[in-house]
Amino acid sequence: MPGKRRKAPGSAGRGFQKLSMAPITPFDLIVVGGGINGAGIARDAALRGLRTCLLEQGDLCNSTTRWSSRLIHGGLRYLEFGELGLVHESLQERENLLRNAPHLVRPLPLMIPVYEDARRGMNTVDFGLYVYDLLSIGRSVPGHRRLSRDEALAEMPGLRADGLTGAVVYYDAQVTYVERLVVENALGAAAAGARIETHTAVDKVLLERNRVTGVEVRNTLTGERSTRHANAIINAAGPWVDRILAAAGRPLPRFLGPTKGTHIVVRNIPGLTDTACYAEARSDGRPFFILPWNGLVLIGTTDTRCDDEPTALRATAAEVDYLLAETRNTFPVCGLTRDDVLYTYCGVRPLPRQGLRDTGAITRRHLIRHHGRSARGLTSIIGGKITTYRHLAEEVLDQVVPRLRLRARSCTTDRVPLPGGEASREEVLRELATFPAVPATSHAHLHAVYGSRAPLVAALARETPELGQHLCPGSGAIGAEVVFAVREEFAATLGDVLLRRCMAGLGPDLGRAALPAALTVAARHLGWSDARCQAEEAAYLAEIAGLAVPAGARPGNVV
Ligand SMILES: Cc1cc2nc3c(=O)[nH]c(=O)nc-3n(C[C@H](O)[C@H](O)[C@H](O)COP(=O)(O)OP(=O)(O)OC[C@H]3O[C@@H](n4cnc5c(N)ncnc54)[C@H](O)[C@@H]3O)c2cc1C
Repeated sequence: MPGKRRKAPGSAGRGFQKLSMAPITPFDLIVVGGGINGAGIARDAALRGLRTCLLEQGDLCNSTTRWSSRLIHGGLRYLEFGELGLVHESLQERENLLRNAPHLVRPLPLMIPVYEDARRGMNTVDFGLYVYDLLSIGRSVPGHRRLSRDEALAEMPGLRADGLTGAVVYYDAQVTYVERLVVENALGAAAAGARIETHTAVDKVLLERNRVTGVEVRNTLTGERSTRHANAIINAAGPWVDRILAAAGRPLPRFLGPTKGTHIVVRNIPGLTDTACYAEARSDGRPFFILPWNGLVLIGTTDTRCDDEPTALRATAAEVDYLLAETRNTFPVCGLTRDDVLYTYCGVRPLPRQGLRDTGAITRRHLIRHHGRSARGLTSIIGGKITTYRHLAEEVLDQVVPRLRLRARSCTTDRVPLPGGEASREEVLRELATFPAVPATSHAHLHAVYGSRAPLVAALARETPELGQHLCPGSGAIGAEVVFAVREEFAATLGDVLLRRCMAGLGPDLGRAALPAALTVAARHLGWSDARCQAEEAAYLAEIAGLAVPAGARPGNVV
């Protein structure tokens, strides 16, 4: 990738030292929420020299960020709504991520098939992509190509041929393991001195004469309560932003107007290659994605108003049916039915409250609100995209630092690679080959998950060769990752380890096959008792039960 890399002061990269928790002292800044926005803000703040504390009620990346389409994209669709600035910003950030996290973010070709009866004809799509290319000045990915009908069918043989007039292929990027992007931001923050507290919920924002002084927190695993102090608090709680404002005990306006988005995961679609498909749904004209992802296929998304509690959200039968029917419309050969769905997931977009009927027209631009009069020092983040998290963090801190007269350096996150982004794939694979205890079948996995930090995982297997054994067939994950996740990456539960650190939990069986080996490692090397292992297993199974295919989803039922 082009561009100059710089090592961060206190970078967690190759010379990573054992994670030590920063002490509980008065902080300059408290960030509430360990999704992509909170973790990104914490890293930027710590790199600027601010004493920073990140508080997350569950694990890192356990909410909206995780339930996304995992695209690092300009947002072609936003052009229709005239959001040129947002598209340009997103395309610049796409380049930053391709450069600074090359192990996590990779270029992704997408094909848009165009049909006779489509809302957007060939010339409209082609022109949109011409503008998209213009807005991504300095891009490292190829520009778009226009294909004839025959060329499109040759490149994507499973496509519906009936009514196809041609297609356009363009590039965006994909972050397969968005969980890791959040974890690496938190690691980068910790390496620069931040305190990262997971499973720690903010129950109350403390105020003195309309000025924030700190927060009351509760450890969600032990129930223990305590306080953290700072005069600057950033509310990056995603779908819970309004609830944090309520916890400030002030009559503040309601900011969110969330919408729900559902995805399904299937094993494969005949004729879908490494190129993703960005199709227009026949039933309602909405664009949706069919994405090669993690050796499987991710299909989504829906977009409906939703005021439900985010943790209680499940995919509905109607949503699954809609996605199945629209995929069959685009790839008739796939004949997908409910039985082909491995799992589902859904999340709420924490969008700004706007009175628009068309949910697709609600801006995906983020808003930054300083609650100056009622709660000086409190700032809320509303909306945003994974793609633009770094720039959002920069913008927030560029506003908060002078407002609250904090002493801080300027932002460096556009230049500093994320902790695993400090060596090329070839270098990492060469180094992994020097660890005989680590099977060659795990090398690609270790690089894709940890990047330049992979040899640190492998080193655990050198000390204790049994940790080089696979956790399950297929994922490439090894026992050392369980130990590494808990000792070095803020994981506390089995779910944290398998679903948001080593990624074995995202396979077709949602990590069930990895449970026995992972628990054996945890018992032997982390001291988990029999009772703890049983409780962890039960909690894990309960967590993945939320991703099950809903009963009642019927093939052929279009909403
Ligand atoms: C279906 C869908 C698809 C999407 N696809 C894309 C895409 O492809 N590309 C893209 O760029 N964007 C996409 N987005 C948008 C993107 O996912 C979100 O804008 C982004 O993830 C929001 O991140 P966040 O950190 O603000 O929120 P979250 O990820 O929700 O993080 C907020 C965190 O705050 C924590 N929290 C809440 N209350 C408390 C409390 N009291 N104490 C402590 N912690 C608390 C929560 O536990 C949570 O972890 C998509 C969104 C959805 C829903």
